[in-house]
Amino acid sequence: MAARPALDIQTAQALDAADPLSRFRQQFLLPPAANGQPLVYFAGHSLGPQPRNARAFVQEALDDWARHGVEGHFAGRYPWLPYHELLTETTARLVGALPSEVVVMNTLTVNLHLMLASFYRPTVGRDLILVEAGAFPSDRHAVASQARWHGRDPADVVVEVAPRPGEAHLRDDDILETLARLGERTALVLFGNCNYLTGQAFDMAAIVRAGHAAGCTVGFDLAHGAGNLDCRLHDSGADFAVWCNYKYLNSGPGGLGGAFVHERHHTADLPRLAGWWGHDKASRFVMGPDFSPIPTAEGWQLSNPPILQMAAVRASMDLFDAAGIANLRARGDRLTQCLADWVDCLPAGRVRLLTPREPQRRGSMLTLHVPGRAAEVAEQLQAQGIAVDLRRPDILRLTPAPLYCCFEDVARAGQALTALFD
Ligand SMILES: *Cc1c(COP(=O)(O)O)cnc(C)c1O
Repeated sequence: MAARPALDIQTAQALDAADPLSRFRQQFLLPPAANGQPLVYFAGHSLGPQPRNARAFVQEALDDWARHGVEGHFAGRYPWLPYHELLTETTARLVGALPSEVVVMNTLTVNLHLMLASFYRPTVGRDLILVEAGAFPSDRHAVASQARWHGRDPADVVVEVAPRPGEAHLRDDDILETLARLGERTALVLFGNCNYLTGQAFDMAAIVRAGHAAGCTVGFDLAHGAGNLDCRLHDSGADFAVWCNYKYLNSGPGGLGGAFVHERHHTADLPRLAGWWGHDKASRFVMGPDFSPIPTAEGWQLSNPPILQMAAVRASMDLFDAAGIANLRARGDRLTQCLADWVDCLPAGRVRLLTPREPQRRGSMLTLHVPGRAAEVAEQLQAQGIAVDLRRPDILRLTPAPLYCCFEDVARAGQALTALFD
């Protein structure tokens, strides 16, 4: 039952007109629906839409390449040699880190492996990896293969913390209880900060506190948190984090990932998989045999980065920076709450909300359990110009991302859903 009346189109339009963040919608190329109008794009947790300025940023890099050839490393308005540094400040503000703690490089799973190479250091008696049940497959493959890499059987060392039977999400207390019980035998705790499927957000600082108290290393996968939640990574105390830039962060298909390494580790004697781009900048081109890592997160870089992809990340990060993640989170919460109000009006028993209701336990995504009808509902919504994400057989994910989705989108989707279940 609805706690309050669901948002109608007129009220939604008034809210849009009154919110200064509404102007960012114009900065995106939202794919057109069949009728030529922009899609209600609720699939940004999967692939964000294209920022309008991405083409110009990529074009500029292409032009520099044409004009300067190899000299493009030093010439042009944005030389390639320090190009990744253009993303440092904006990325640090986005995830709540010190500039020295972040770097944009590689892709998510690659970065996860690089971080695990440094931060999963099993010893006899302390070799468990604690993860959320229902983690994204790539994360599970990564930890399982790291366990094998260290001569362990994943069945012995990878421990999943699961929701209680019949419950959709994890209780915070159960995470902490598991840490209290297994912490002494746990080498690494790896959680999403927002689960990709249920949308449950975890209390990172609490997990870090409990993990560190038990002597564990604690890392996060922010694939569904970066650009969605106000992550405050540095203050959380997390040892490391990784994310991708192509979901909430709109940097294009296969776009580059990001990594965070807490400053306390920058000069620590950690094993790492090294490459020349992680080597001290002053002596990188001396081309000597010894590896002297940059004493920041940049020290984990491997290769000279793909500038064309990085240009697209820049386009998006500039928009996030102009909007501010705290502002976006507040707007995202309002949009999501309005969508939840509509969902509450749908017939119980035919639709169940799997995402936690409390704003601090979710971001801008709602997961609906629609037994028997999810595929059909997704198809009908798409036909009406509303793009959602189907996880077969019964799951729909709807993401009113605050940078380009608006209140009117939410009202339209709510009306369409209501009609479909009438
Ligand atoms: C999207 C996603 C990935 C994808 O990894 P890539 O290496 O970017 O292909 C991995 N983990 C999580 C939690 C994700 O949401």
